[in-house]
Amino acid sequence: MNTQFAVVGLGLFGSALCEELERQDAQVLAIDIDEAKTRQVATFCSHTIVADATDEATVAELGLADYDIVFVAIGDNLETSILTTLVLKEAGVKKVWVKARDKFHAKILQKVGADKVINPEWDMGRRVAQSMLDNRLFDYLELGHNMVLTEFVIGLQQNGRTLGDLNLLQQSDFQLLAIKRGEQLHNVLTGKMELTLGDILILAGNKHAIDHWLETL
Ligand code: ADP
Repeated sequence: MNTQFAVVGLGLFGSALCEELERQDAQVLAIDIDEAKTRQVATFCSHTIVADATDEATVAELGLADYDIVFVAIGDNLETSILTTLVLKEAGVKKVWVKARDKFHAKILQKVGADKVINPEWDMGRRVAQSMLDNRLFDYLELGHNMVLTEFVIGLQQNGRTLGDLNLLQQSDFQLLAIKRGEQLHNVLTGKMELTLGDILILAGNKHAIDHWLETL
């Protein structure tokens, strides 16, 4: 059986969710209390309904308990978002995912039983920061014949992982020459060696192979 989704609240975020789910051929029911919003979404979403999701009888009537994931995308009205989450959980919806405005909102949502809390601004901020942080210290030092030397700084995502986890010792087209940690240079390297924030990996070898490895991080 196909996974069934419902989205409550068709603001910018909810509409985008519906549009993408529909585009990927998923079954989605789009719900909003405002008829104008449902009419807009109906241009790209085949199942829309005008309803108040804080109303227990309505939630039961719509059979939302049988949906696999119900997403509450009511961001600005805290009270409605929290109440909707509560009503959906009490109705027996297995997974209620909710958009939160801030950390305070997120905390309350977790208390009332939200299965997943998403803070789009926070998540996007982190993602943008990651893409701003190029972990390479300097551009490649070209050695000729597609060979390069480069340095990579261990960031939050690699912190605590071992050289084995990062597949660094089994590479055939490039080599980890040494790790600079503080003032020390480690060149006896084992798969069990744990990396910490700020470690600098000194890599040399085929440029494409290094690029490919960086993409896997
Ligand atoms: P965004 O920030 O993503 O644009 P908004 O918080 O502006 O989201 O939009 C929330 C949507 O939720 C609005 O379209 C509003 O009509 C709808 N909404 C508010 N209360 C209810 C409710 N009780 N039941 C269903 N939809 C609701």
